Amino acid sequence: MGKQDLLRALPSVERVLEHPEMVRLSEQVPRWALTESVRQVIDAMRKAIVSGERQTEIEIAEIVSQAADLANKLSQRGIRRVINATGILLHTNLGRSILAKRVMDAVLEVGSSYSCLEIDLETGRRTSRLRHVEALLRRIIGCEAATAVNNNAGAVLLTLNTLAEGKEAIVSRGELIEIGGSFRLPEVIGKSGTIMVEVGTTNRTNVEDYRRAISKKSAVILKVHRSNFEMTGFVESVASKELAKLAHEHGLVLVEDLGSGALLDYAEFAIEHEPMPQERLRDGVDLVTFSADKLLGGPQAGVIVGKKDLVDRMRTNPLARALRLDKMTLAALEETLRLYLEPQKLIEALPTLRMIATQVDDLERRAKMVAATLKNEVGEMLEITTARERSQIGGGSLPGVSLETAVVKISSRHYRPEDISSVLRNCNPPIVARIADDKVIIDLRTVQPSEDDVLLKQIAAAFAGGDKS
Ligand SMILES: *Cc1c(COP(=O)(O)O)cnc(C)c1O
Repeated sequence: MGKQDLLRALPSVERVLEHPEMVRLSEQVPRWALTESVRQVIDAMRKAIVSGERQTEIEIAEIVSQAADLANKLSQRGIRRVINATGILLHTNLGRSILAKRVMDAVLEVGSSYSCLEIDLETGRRTSRLRHVEALLRRIIGCEAATAVNNNAGAVLLTLNTLAEGKEAIVSRGELIEIGGSFRLPEVIGKSGTIMVEVGTTNRTNVEDYRRAISKKSAVILKVHRSNFEMTGFVESVASKELAKLAHEHGLVLVEDLGSGALLDYAEFAIEHEPMPQERLRDGVDLVTFSADKLLGGPQAGVIVGKKDLVDRMRTNPLARALRLDKMTLAALEETLRLYLEPQKLIEALPTLRMIATQVDDLERRAKMVAATLKNEVGEMLEITTARERSQIGGGSLPGVSLETAVVKISSRHYRPEDISSVLRNCNPPIVARIADDKVIIDLRTVQPSEDDVLLKQIAAAFAGGDKS
């Protein structure tokens, strides 16, 4: 057949849409997705005929099958659940903390009805949307005052802009960090309108370095927690307590960005102690900022706690409006904080803490179960072993600290590890794993026990019946 004949034989979009398979699909997939995918598939085929790439007649069934796959993809929600098999608990690309059941109930209620967001139900008057969250933070942390904004980068921006716009903030060269996703501290300081004065060296900064930098233009000393890297060897930095003394001798405000911040002592969970805002306030730090979606285990938000007169100044800054929290995040943050009022139930209630506290024996039992089933079902395609390894906390928390974990390792004579992990990402729900030493690693610490079954079924189905390439 010549090109003209092949082109003429292509069916119209309407004819493909009338095919029984498409009619059946239209019960699950919206019309726009069907039409668009049929159009795209026919276009691609027309191009292939014109370029000579395609020289045989195209059956309608071929178009239908390709269009159905595409329509299913097009109509799927973009942001959707994945199974986190990386073992990284606070994986920023996978959404950091997962929220407690009770927290999601609160979000559902507040999002799907009107709420008393900014109305005082006793007086009927307008009030602050932050009142409940602020009261809870004061109660849990024991601080004079507290407030919250969109995220911790926003908290640092708002704090510096409020206290030091047009003035100087003194910061150690050893703390000018990049968190990732383009959060570089010097740039945030710049955007706040504050002039950054760097002191010390990369590895060593002492109190005299800070003292020498103080001038009439100084407003703030900023201390930043090195939350995603460690420095060892010939190093020196100044403790918050000593810096607070220096700041107050000169009428300056000491601000500390704790990054993750922990409201509990993580040393109790066989991992290292992460600095707690309550400790820093006790040391004399005036304002502490931290994220709500790292170790705290809540939604994305940035918290500022400390001296009341300083926090009060934040509230009237127009930036506070630009960075303000929406009602669903507020509902989630309030309910997460309320969980902290009952510490004895916290491990059960808060998923982040529950995953940290899970014993490696439990994980190993699950890893062996997953491995045994997979060997049984797809043992010819894949080589499956189990091992004990270490998982990272991630998300800018506790660098250099890892938890013992149990993993399932997958390799194959038929596929490269990148291909195996790509197949896993194409499962439904997608499974995100990591690759190490040419093996795909499924780390059970971040897989919910209730997900073991679907994980197994998806992997087995994806590799059953041979060649996937
Ligand atoms: C994570 C982190 C930030 C940024 O916090 P977000 O909530 O992601 O905006 C800032 N500073 C430090 C030290 C951090 O660890």
